[in-house]
Amino acid sequence: MTNIRIYVLAKELGLDSPTLVAELHKQGISVKSNLSSLDEETAELVRAILREPPKEEKEEKEEKEEKEEEKEEYRPLPPEPLPKEETLVPRKKIKLGENITVKQLAERLNCKAKEIIKNLMEMGIISHINQMLDPNVTQTLAQKYGYEAEILPLYSDEIISEHFQPTKEILVSRSPVVTVMGHVDHGKTLLLDAIRQTNVMDKEVGGITQHIGAYEVEVEKGKIIFLDTPGHEAFAAMRARGAQVTDIVVLVVAADDGVMPQTKEAVAHARVAKVPIVAAINKIDKPNANPEKVKKDLSELGLTPEEWGGDTIFVEVSAKKRIGIKELLEMILLQAEILELKALSNRPAKGVIIEAELDKNKGPVATILLQSGRLKVGDSFVAGIHYGKVRAMINSKGKKVKESGPSIPIEVLGLSGVPQAGDSFIVVEDEKKSREISQLRAQRQREEGMVKTATVSLEQLHEQIKKGGVKELNIIIKADVQGSAEALTNSLEKLSTEEVKLKVIYNGVGGITESDVMLAFTANAIIIGFNVRPTPQAEELLETEKVDVRLYNIIYDVIADVKAAMEGLLEPLIEERVLGRAEVRQLFRIPRAGIIAGCYVTDGVIMRNANIRVLRDNAVIYQGKMTSLKRFKEDISEVTAGYECGIGLDKFSDWQTGDIIEPYEEIAVARKI
Ligand code: GDP
Repeated sequence: MTNIRIYVLAKELGLDSPTLVAELHKQGISVKSNLSSLDEETAELVRAILREPPKEEKEEKEEKEEKEEEKEEYRPLPPEPLPKEETLVPRKKIKLGENITVKQLAERLNCKAKEIIKNLMEMGIISHINQMLDPNVTQTLAQKYGYEAEILPLYSDEIISEHFQPTKEILVSRSPVVTVMGHVDHGKTLLLDAIRQTNVMDKEVGGITQHIGAYEVEVEKGKIIFLDTPGHEAFAAMRARGAQVTDIVVLVVAADDGVMPQTKEAVAHARVAKVPIVAAINKIDKPNANPEKVKKDLSELGLTPEEWGGDTIFVEVSAKKRIGIKELLEMILLQAEILELKALSNRPAKGVIIEAELDKNKGPVATILLQSGRLKVGDSFVAGIHYGKVRAMINSKGKKVKESGPSIPIEVLGLSGVPQAGDSFIVVEDEKKSREISQLRAQRQREEGMVKTATVSLEQLHEQIKKGGVKELNIIIKADVQGSAEALTNSLEKLSTEEVKLKVIYNGVGGITESDVMLAFTANAIIIGFNVRPTPQAEELLETEKVDVRLYNIIYDVIADVKAAMEGLLEPLIEERVLGRAEVRQLFRIPRAGIIAGCYVTDGVIMRNANIRVLRDNAVIYQGKMTSLKRFKEDISEVTAGYECGIGLDKFSDWQTGDIIEPYEEIAVARKI
């Protein structure tokens, strides 16, 4: 590309260089001098703008052009009136992708790309036809053309399947997808093995099911898909990524042990996800098995067996002795029947990544559970931030297949990278589009650094209620003793008003764990810790998941805070953050300035105008504002660790060597006690 100097362009346009430079600045193009140069494309746009006829003439001319164009060709959709001024005509709604380019936008708005580029230039944006537009800009442009644009986010289904719009929705039945949950050692893994093996022995003697993260079992009445990673951690992790694949939870409770903390957690997770539970009372072969006690315990959690008038299906099994397995499978199918599970068939294939890895020979492979549509070899797709083209598909029995439908776990080869479990998978029109979306998503991920948006918080509760965003405040309570947990549950739920319902989705005893944080994240809940603290792992997770955790040791304070938060009266707590430390090494008497402390900065940074404290033997002897900060007689704004500086205070001069100066800032933080 050849560049053109400003003065050359100015001459060409019949302007002097300073006028052109000024014009360019007006258009948002920064140039240093008349010796600077512009690339050809920019120069072309500058020519287009600066050679424009005066405004009235321009409108006339454009109107003429429009008329001529109308004469030339028949248009079913006449172009929108050109961007004159705001009209009172209601705007037409249009859906535009977040990843739209200038050219695509022009097509959708029924105008020429050149016009869009010109409009952009007027907005101070230099563009080319393949440039992707910022959603705000897209919206403004659409508005200029009389449209009200709805921007489809990068992860919406519509954005990828715009051109696939089916005429009629065709629903087909699909098999249930099951996750096994329960307390550690209650037999989840063995139960999954037992189910798989019973099935293999029945159907294909000696057959080996390969591990792809999910497997299919077939019984007389239908098929069931089991996810191979038991426990609520994986379930919650998937949900945290926005994926919900499980239709039914099988809750394993050991008959010799009863309901344990993770049993309760599993129930809470399933409830939040609104997934029905089938209770499997395991280890009934054990001499000390007490299934009746399990039923009683679970009834207390709201899972009442049908025989006692409830609606939870209970099955007694022994994973070890293979007792009750067939019955369990039948009951799962019965529960599935009630759910009437359906999938859309005439849609581009869409699903969720269950598992993915980098295989030494095959490259990136992923197990996908399709939720709608049919997937075929050769289809282009986007999976999380990756893209690809289906090279081969292998089912859970290790057989290659050419096509697959909803609710069937399938291993797919042909990905550009390894996606994460829970990432969405969707087929798009072609490879170009898949690559485009994947690149954009990857770029977005880098920009956002995977920052998750904060869920509900007490601080913003009132705002959120006012906006109508919160109708229910989900709360998780962890306390040192069950009695406090119960008392808090009762008191908090009683605070419910017409506007907002307070719901304790889980209460338990012990420190705040990763699992609690995950549950809070997926359920959009806050966590209240009473006489307990988060574990280090939970603390780590809290950093990234931005869940509001509040720690208390007085029940009254919990109630008062939640009440205040509901009314928007919760005062933010001000906390201090120490910014640095400096040690006084020498004192100087400076005429007119008083005594200056010659310091060495040992940590952090010392800033002028900061609030400071002077410490002597760890006791605060002065607190106030710093008035002068100098380095070699020069006034400076800050000094970092490893440097010397001179510090002066207006109202304090009683320095001694060895004093410590500690600047700090005050920040509003979530209340913690
Ligand atoms: P998980 O932690 O829930 O996955 O539990 P596992 O499947 O690893 O089982 C924990 C222990 O319980 C193992 O030693 C199993 O052999 C044993 N176990 C599991 N199911 C049964 C059962 O039905 N009967 C008996 N007696 N032991 C069982």
